This record gives sequence, structure tokens and C-alpha cells, in this order.
Amino acid sequence: MNQKYFILTYGCQMNKADSERIAGKLESDGFVKAKNSGEADFIVLNSCVVRQAAEDSVFGFAKKAQALREIKPDIKIVVTGCLVGVESDRPKRISLPQLRKKLPWVNDFWPIGKVGLEVSPKREAKKNALVPISSGCNNFCTYCVVPYTRGQEKSRCPEEIICEIETLVKNGAEEVLLLGQNVNSYGKDLKPPKSFAELLEAVHSIGKIKKIKFLTAHPKDMSDKLIKTIAELPKIDRYLHFPIQSGDDEILRKMNRGYTVKDYQKLVEKIRTRIPGVEIGTDLIVGFPGETREQFENTVKVIKEIKFDNAFIAMYSPRQGTPAANFADDVPQTEKRRRHKILLELLRKQKLK
Ligand code: SF4
Repeated sequence: MNQKYFILTYGCQMNKADSERIAGKLESDGFVKAKNSGEADFIVLNSCVVRQAAEDSVFGFAKKAQALREIKPDIKIVVTGCLVGVESDRPKRISLPQLRKKLPWVNDFWPIGKVGLEVSPKREAKKNALVPISSGCNNFCTYCVVPYTRGQEKSRCPEEIICEIETLVKNGAEEVLLLGQNVNSYGKDLKPPKSFAELLEAVHSIGKIKKIKFLTAHPKDMSDKLIKTIAELPKIDRYLHFPIQSGDDEILRKMNRGYTVKDYQKLVEKIRTRIPGVEIGTDLIVGFPGETREQFENTVKVIKEIKFDNAFIAMYSPRQGTPAANFADDVPQTEKRRRHKILLELLRKQKLK
């Protein structure tokens, strides 16, 4: 009888895309999907460390693991994802012996990329497909672990991406979500270099594709050429998500975001003028180290001015191994919660309008 696997995925769409490839690999090795973890012989925890809550979920699995082992002593549990990191960068954040010590109930740790992009993914959704176009990030925002867990930005070659999408379309996909930590810096590392706009044009020309989405775009890499391409290609979704993170220049500088509030506002204006009907979404962090009430009020002001269509708000928590983890985390938790609530309420009111 075939052994059964179960994958628990935490965090972002990138992890979901990785899990689809892990499922593809396990099925080609003869495993079949279990309905739940209790039925499985092989469990993969695809971890996330971007937020504390996600990181805690993996550590919190210890009890469940113990209970599962009592019923099935041979069960294998593997951890992969950002907690483990990519092979080359792993020791920079947390070493394998440290991880083994912290998670003694885990049988094995798989670095990100152990199951490579050449593996055919096993997809749950037929019509919507996640397609990774790059991995890693070179931006080094001071609060973010991604450059340490997923390493340097590496773009997939366009031919491989197009070939994957053509196969998806043949199998019934109508919508693709192009994924990368920073999609709009795609292709700079290719030889010869390619631009994200060129990739969008190539994907757009695939006959049966009905909609193209992408995540996440960085404001500093939103070129005029890219805006023009989006405006001209009707199948590209009219919802654009690019994180502002803060509405205060000093905080943005400390975050190493590479733009000012003015730059961001000008960009929004340009996009709204050139792409009629566009909706804009963003991400925000409240309570970054040293954020004063006045600096927070600057964020409130910017939100009132820009009127986002959608926003994800996070309370800052230090991530081990990042530069910001060395800054004093001096905004009290109660104050972070207060700021979070104010922004949520403001965004809710704007949405209702
Ligand atoms: S752009 Fe900044 S926040 Fe986004 S993945 Fe890269 S380092 Fe992290």
C-alpha cells in the first residue's frame, strides 16, 4: 500500500508554490495525499518566519507530533521553508545543529530549493495557478528575513516560465499569479538581462490565458516602461499591490526601503493617471523601532491622502538575524496594538465609503 503524505503550509504564496512542487515530488515517488495529518506517514511543515505567529506555529507542532508518534511510531516529520533557509545561507541565521536542538521531534530539515523548480507541481486549483518567476531578494529591508532565508535574487529563465504556463493552460488554467519576492526586479541577473515588462508581454501573448496577476512589486522598481506595459495589456489584473510600509521618511530610511513618501505618492498618481480603474493595495508596519507618535501620525496622514483599496497591517516584531533586531524594540506592545487598531479602523471607513 502507498505511503501517505500531508503538507502544512505557513506564510506566503511563495511557500504555497513550493508546497505544490514538494507534493509533485512526493507523488512521483509513489506517495498519495492523506486527508489529514493523523492519516499521514510523512508530514512536511513548510515554515514561515516573516511573522512571529507563523514561526511559533512550527514550534507549537511539538505536542501534535508527540501525539501522532504515539499512534504511529514510524511517522516521519520534515521541516522546510524559511526557518531552514537555503543551503548556502542557512548558517547565517540559525545553524542546523541549533535547529535540531530546538526541534528534537523533527526527523529531517530540507533547505528551500531541495525540491527544485524543474519538478512538476501538484496543483489543487485547476483554473488559478501559482508560477514562481524568481526566488530570493537583494533589497535587505532592515526588518526582513527573506534575504537571509531565501538568499540572493535568482530569476528563472523566461523560456522555462512560458513553457510551464503553456502546459498549465493546456490543463485548464485560465489565471496565473506570477510570484517573486520582488517581481518587478525580475531578470536583471539573466544573461542577457530581461525585464519584468518583457516577461509580462510574453505571458500575455499565450492565447488562452484570461488573467495575469503578480506579487509582490517593490515601489522603487515600478518603471515607466512597466506601467506602460500594464496599461496596454488588458489581461493584466487591475489590482496592483506595492507595499509602502510607513508614511514617514525617517522610518522608511531606517527600514532601507529606497524611496521617500513623496516618491511613493508620485508613483500612485502616475499609476492612477495611466491605468484608469486601477486599484492599489499596500502593506504597512506599525511600531517599527523608534517610531514616535508623530511619525505614526504621518502614516495616518498618508493613508488618508492615498486612500488605498486594500492594506495589510502588521505590528513590528524583531526577526532574528536582521539589522532591525539590533535596534531597540521600544514601542510598547499596547501602543503597537493601538496604532494597528487606528489604521484598521481608518482603512475600514475608507473602504465603506
Ligand atoms: S523587498 Fe524587502 S521586505 Fe520584500 S522580501 Fe525583499 S527584503 Fe523582504
